Amino acid sequence: MRENIFIYKIGLLFLILSPLYAGVEESGSSLTYWLILGFIVLALIFVLYRYSIIEEYSKNLQQNIDIIDKHVLISYSDKKGNITYVSEALCKLTGYTKEELIGKNHRIFKHPDTPRAVFKKLWQTITQGEVYKGELKNINKAGKAYWIEVTITPIINKYGEIEGYSAIRQDITDKKYAQKLSITDKLTQTYNRLHLENILAKETQRANRYGEIYSVIIIDIDKFKLINDNYGHDVGDKILISVVEILNSKIRQTDVLGRWGGEEFLIICPKSDMDQAYIVAQKLRVAIQEHEFPIIKKLTCSFGVSQYRSKDKNSDAVIKKADEALYISKENGRNMVSVKY
Ligand code: GH3
Ligand code: MG
Ligand code: MG
Repeated sequence: MRENIFIYKIGLLFLILSPLYAGVEESGSSLTYWLILGFIVLALIFVLYRYSIIEEYSKNLQQNIDIIDKHVLISYSDKKGNITYVSEALCKLTGYTKEELIGKNHRIFKHPDTPRAVFKKLWQTITQGEVYKGELKNINKAGKAYWIEVTITPIINKYGEIEGYSAIRQDITDKKYAQKLSITDKLTQTYNRLHLENILAKETQRANRYGEIYSVIIIDIDKFKLINDNYGHDVGDKILISVVEILNSKIRQTDVLGRWGGEEFLIICPKSDMDQAYIVAQKLRVAIQEHEFPIIKKLTCSFGVSQYRSKDKNSDAVIKKADEALYISKENGRNMVSVKY
């Protein structure tokens, strides 16, 4: 603004001075000549000045675009999800080049583990013109998984129609890793007690509020102390890992298995009554009994099963019942499933 005033002042001075000079020349045509010249020079200065400002602005804009391109995980797509722009930062994260991504569909980033329902909700939201925010598991060019927190915003044209989407992301892989560590048992890589307690609390809340049911199975390895004593702690550790693998391979996806402590495991079976959980426990008992372990060869487990009832009020009660059932299995010779109503 200040520069503008400065230029006007110069122009004004020029205008005042030109007739004076023309007066010195004492010629009328010379006055007109200087006036026209004055205007032309003034206009030229003004145009050059505006041009320099625009150039400065576009330089700053380009610098900002470069910074965004380099550091922000951003992409644009048409309304079918075909990529029209990707930032350099996103290329770096995904391992693809811009050329490899432009024209491809966004599903190139999709990890096969992500449930269909997640994408269904995403598309439902954005096709309604609303902003979608969520955490997604993605896969990079090398096949490695990473996690992002994404905000997808519909781009609306002047007719009010969706013409595409912008997606801005944050890499939350480290956060997800830390979260996973906090709920995973280090030795067996199954859930730890903290996670089991959280799930129990959630299931209990659901049961109390909506009358849904759930059951629990407590599993304790028989005579495990003898394995440690006879073969050493390392062999014992390997057995714990194998037991988890067997249990995991036999339960449903909706069942939650975790290490309750030492050589004890817990399975939470949502939407299952005691009879259904009993069948699962028997299947697991047989699978372990029939498995041939390295070094120790044979192993058995004892099981205690119970179902959450409204009178239980909290999950401690159902765990206590399952524990009592486990005790019955141990008392009656082990390698057995017992239930407690
Ligand atoms: P029972 O049939 O009555 O359950 O007998 P048990 O020997 O299995 O039961 P006990 O409670 O006497 O012993 C459990 C053993 O589990 C003792 C403990 O050292 C072992 N244990 C607990 N955690 C671990 C672990 O992380 N690694 C190994 N190797 N052993 C463990
Ligand atoms: Mg025990
Ligand atoms: Mg034991």
